[in-house]
Amino acid sequence: MGLLFWNFVTASRRAATFIKFPNTIMSRRLHASRIEGVDKNVWVEFSQLVNDYQPVNLGQGFPDFAPPKYMEDAFCEALRGGPSMHQYTRAFGHPRLVKSLAKFFSGIVGREIHPMDDVLVTVGAYQALFCAFQALVEEGDEVIVVEPFFDCYQPMVKMAGGKAVYVPLRPKANGAGEGGALSSGDWVLSTEELASKFTPRTKAVVINTPNNPLGKVYKREELQVIADLCIQHDVLCFSDEVYEWLTYDGTQHVKIASLPGMWERTITVGSAGKTFSATGWKVGWAIGATDLIKHMKTVHQNSVYHCATAAQEAVARGFERELDLLGTPESYFRQLPDEMRLKREKLASCLESVGLKPIMPQGGYFMITDVSSVKADLDEADGKEEAYDFRFVKWLIKEKGLATIPVSAFYSPEHGRDFDKYIRFCFIKEDSTLDAAEAILKNWSASSHL
Ligand code: PMP
Ligand code: GLN
Repeated sequence: MGLLFWNFVTASRRAATFIKFPNTIMSRRLHASRIEGVDKNVWVEFSQLVNDYQPVNLGQGFPDFAPPKYMEDAFCEALRGGPSMHQYTRAFGHPRLVKSLAKFFSGIVGREIHPMDDVLVTVGAYQALFCAFQALVEEGDEVIVVEPFFDCYQPMVKMAGGKAVYVPLRPKANGAGEGGALSSGDWVLSTEELASKFTPRTKAVVINTPNNPLGKVYKREELQVIADLCIQHDVLCFSDEVYEWLTYDGTQHVKIASLPGMWERTITVGSAGKTFSATGWKVGWAIGATDLIKHMKTVHQNSVYHCATAAQEAVARGFERELDLLGTPESYFRQLPDEMRLKREKLASCLESVGLKPIMPQGGYFMITDVSSVKADLDEADGKEEAYDFRFVKWLIKEKGLATIPVSAFYSPEHGRDFDKYIRFCFIKEDSTLDAAEAILKNWSASSHL
């Protein structure tokens, strides 16, 4: 009788748990709470749609052309470089690559970067960011994130146990255009608003220059304001600079790590994917003071260990070549922005010709535009509770055959709705792809729905 009763109690408890956690295969919740609420991902969602509908793709940020020939050759040569190219290399970065990164960036940061201590090679910039948050953000710490931001910062802060605190870039009231700014440079941080976000729990500030999706390139004076606050409050800075070579119209990219007092507290993140137009290689890096990098190494050695040897060897060769050619017309870091400037202009005039007002990016390879004036019959789109730009972009893919990215994905859940009338176009595409997008927009415009 006693045993029967006990079996009944246990079975009822199990049933109650299954009702509470209906998707689990265990009698308790399967997933860790650190991943709660971060399961939705804009790249996963929109890449699937692109796959399903095969639109002209100005969405996800990657070139639809090959990297420079010398980089393709470098990878092939690396692969044929003997057995060691196919085996493990040093955990924290292939020696040839950390040496070339240290040499290259020492000149730019204006101090000697130690290849073994101050550089960590990672699986793309993503993993550099992940290591920074995991290694340096403590449970309960606050991290100030400038909006709009590359979307992974928020889940990464959350998974580290931290709390993201947002501060927005806002269009200046006296910006170039009536009722809105028309250059990414007109989007600025308010010093008072930024200062008000610092608390005793603040551990780090995250910035991204040139910014994705806006294309803003922070001026030295703007970075100095951020640096002064970081120093005053004894806070770290994570500076995501994956688009550092892509600036236009004489705009200069400045590294916050090069400002006085900032080297000691800054992690600078870079990406070979963006630098050499080879996003699939997934080689990235973090550069910073030995005492910061050593903690990131701990995360790295116990998770990924190292990234592909041959890809690292090829990137090393790329940087060695660039170091020799820096400032000359043969340098890819000069050729790429020259080419992208033309594509930026091509896309901007296409958008303007159909009555849209793009915000001209000073850097990066994205352009955002307000679509609130566009007449789109979104009734067909599923989920009215979904942000307007998500519904709009889905409709654009399915009905017009053109893929872009909704800009509210680059805002916190709290602020996304305030910015859900913008969409982002990627212009690092073949001219034929940009032409195909233009044909779609012009056709649409001619049928007077735009
Ligand atoms: N930061 C920003 C701002 C990005 O746009 C991206 C996407 N490339 C990343 C980091 C991640 O870079 P990677 O592909 O090298 O991981
Ligand atoms: N960084 C790329 C972009 O902004 C996408 C990264 C990804 O696909 N996960 O488009």
